[in-house]
Amino acid sequence: MIGPDQFLSQAEGLGALMEQMREDRMNHALLITGEAGTGKWTLARGLAAALLCAGDEPRPCGKCRACLQMEEMAHPDLVVLERGKHLTRDDEGKAKNAITIGDVREMIRLTAQHGMEGDRRVVLIRHGEDMRTEAQNALLKTLEEPPEGTFFLMTARRTEALLPTIISRCRPMKMRLWTEAKIEKILRDRGTADDQASRAAREAEGSLGEAIRLTEDEGYWAFRAEVIRDWMECPSRSDIIRISNKWKDRKDEGEAVFALLEKIFSRMMRRSFQVSGKADSAAEFSAQWQSFARNAAPGDYARIFDGIALARKRTVSNVSFQAAVEQLILLFMEAVHTR
Ligand SMILES: [Zn+2]
Repeated sequence: MIGPDQFLSQAEGLGALMEQMREDRMNHALLITGEAGTGKWTLARGLAAALLCAGDEPRPCGKCRACLQMEEMAHPDLVVLERGKHLTRDDEGKAKNAITIGDVREMIRLTAQHGMEGDRRVVLIRHGEDMRTEAQNALLKTLEEPPEGTFFLMTARRTEALLPTIISRCRPMKMRLWTEAKIEKILRDRGTADDQASRAAREAEGSLGEAIRLTEDEGYWAFRAEVIRDWMECPSRSDIIRISNKWKDRKDEGEAVFALLEKIFSRMMRRSFQVSGKADSAAEFSAQWQSFARNAAPGDYARIFDGIALARKRTVSNVSFQAAVEQLILLFMEAVHTR
């Protein structure tokens, strides 16, 4: 398990919170927010382990019985609310995308019981926005008068979907995006080879979870290389038909191609205008696109993004995918030739 101390630079106010935890004066409810892949759930689990750990500081010790149980998410004083994983048999098989009011009521029943293993109990709520209003209202009551020794650790991507009264009961904690260097270091520590760690760190754009996923997804890298070679590196006009023929029956992959191209050109644009701190390694783009990136004006990128948007629109509205492929390849060829 990645311990909470690994997140000190990533979560606002985490140092202070951990000190309060050590002094046993932590707020009983915490709301962790931030973009996908920033580590909200991992941090919540780490804090839950720290709260339940029976070992010595620094907690979680990783060795005591409670810590081992937390590795399996099977501690007797832990209740987990997560969509589709219902606590009551009544809700089994339904409401796959929600935490139900039945789940919240069962959690309240469980936390009200006596005979805990230790003197603390933890309720982990993953993606609090998965609770509909009635479930949130049920939770609100217990947040207002929490049982002694019970801590609520909730994560959320979109706080707009949470009741303001729930938000106001929780101590807020926002996760920051990860820097490339930090992601790269963690990947290397996990045993990923240097070159693979750096390419995944660059591609994940601040999301540690995404970076970890990418190191394990060879198919993504093969697809990415194919898209760049075919769509962005077309050698001459006479090759356009050959390439569009190859892609014409792969309309299903259209959206993945467009999203990838947008990602690549967004990064190239940041590099052109030095918005991002660290310049991308030169090896990422071919010589002709490196030259484009050095010389491009904002209007050049606007044309490219408009072209991708148009290709997407044509594909969705059932104009031939082959025509969309040809139009984009031509646009990219013109772009690199004019800069
Ligand atoms: Zn422990």
